[in-house]
Amino acid sequence: MADILKAVKGMNDILPASVPRKDKLPDSALWRWFERTVDSVLARHGYHYLLTPVVEPTSLFVRGIGEATDIVEKEMYSWTDAMNGDALTLRPEITAGIVRSMVEHNALYNGPLRVWSIGPVFRHERPQKGRYRQFFQLDVEALGYAGPDVDAELILMVRRLWEELGLVVGQHVRLELNSLGQPVERAAHRAALVTYFEAHAEQLDEDSRRRLTTNPLRILDSKNPAMQALVEAAPKLAEHLGAESRAHLDAVCAVLDAAGLPYKINPRLVRGLDYYNLTVFEWVTDQLGSQGTVCGGGRYDGLFEQLGGKPTPAIGFGLGIERLLLLLQELAIPVPGAAPDAYAVIGEGVPLPPVLVALDALRAAGVSVQMNAAGKDGPGSMKSQFKKADASGARFALVFGASELAAGQVVLKSLRDGAGAQTLRDLATVPAWAADLLPA
Ligand code: ATP
Ligand code: MG
Repeated sequence: MADILKAVKGMNDILPASVPRKDKLPDSALWRWFERTVDSVLARHGYHYLLTPVVEPTSLFVRGIGEATDIVEKEMYSWTDAMNGDALTLRPEITAGIVRSMVEHNALYNGPLRVWSIGPVFRHERPQKGRYRQFFQLDVEALGYAGPDVDAELILMVRRLWEELGLVVGQHVRLELNSLGQPVERAAHRAALVTYFEAHAEQLDEDSRRRLTTNPLRILDSKNPAMQALVEAAPKLAEHLGAESRAHLDAVCAVLDAAGLPYKINPRLVRGLDYYNLTVFEWVTDQLGSQGTVCGGGRYDGLFEQLGGKPTPAIGFGLGIERLLLLLQELAIPVPGAAPDAYAVIGEGVPLPPVLVALDALRAAGVSVQMNAAGKDGPGSMKSQFKKADASGARFALVFGASELAAGQVVLKSLRDGAGAQTLRDLATVPAWAADLLPA
């Protein structure tokens, strides 16, 4: 027998819940429910869907994300195209590609645009729970908006998403917020940081020592526990913010306060990408160990110009889908609509055509119905079909018996509350009673 092939390390299959698996990855029903919820929430906020390629020129990320970031330094899957020598990269995030696309198509010609996308991104990291080499991001961008109104709207939209997914804000997920100010303010802060870290150079790890010259702000983003005390006591950007930057943050906070959304100002929140300014935020959870950030974003008013476009203020966020779904799974949040409404139990010797016609009529009326398609030998014993009906989670069984079917009828049997209760229904009038099978 030929060898079994396996998926590439750190890249996962997302499978139906019925497939037994050793890893804890989310199943596809949870995945699709998340996507449906996102669809609905984003539509209500005026966001438009778009797709950009998974492969982009390497220079897009070097220019867009910043050379001295973890991603560009060591996490990108990059190669040279053997045919034409192009330097290409599997996207490690989606924002840069969206901005590239918007500039290329002059997409903001008619005014600002709210857009979103979902797709795989690739980072060469050490795989562990909540950290993979291929993972999926929901990416949401408000392009051409200077804020702070849209900043607050965007953050409230994420809260709406949490609530519709059954997450309790403040308990399951918490909001952290900061302002990165403007480039001149950051320059002043940077100078203060360099002075501080140079004075404590002996306590810096190798990465941080290098970053002292390339990008000292990144040292604040260090995950090395040995450096936490040093980082904690470093000069704060807040001390260098001017009146306008402060007012921008205050205006965002005023909306969050009015909306009763609790948050923590975290002066150490700098984000892993270089392009941010003013508002930055993360949604974190305590339930996933060290992979605690489920969603992170911020304002990036300079990125369009950096990528050759006109000056365009913008804000957005990326949400790690696997990580978020792990959280939903951990909290055992039930997936609505994962089970069918009804399961067809077909008697022995019952002719197939009228049964399938009846099931089609129910589906046309919006009911989800399953049957056991066991091939030419028929659907199996009633007992085994009832077992399957139970296992499917269906609330009802539709029992097709020979004599009922001959009279144009089916037995509707409840499998849940009031289990066993049954009524006869006319197959000629399915639309009139189909709604009885739908969830309340
Ligand atoms: P982290 O600090 O955990 O490395 P990050 O700052 O690199 O996160 P972003 O670039 O902001 O992450 O990406 C947005 C979201 O994508 C994160 O908040 C997280 O939920 C998710 N994410 C990031 N890296 C991974 C990964 N390797 N595997 C799975 N999800 C990830
Ligand atoms: Mg990272």
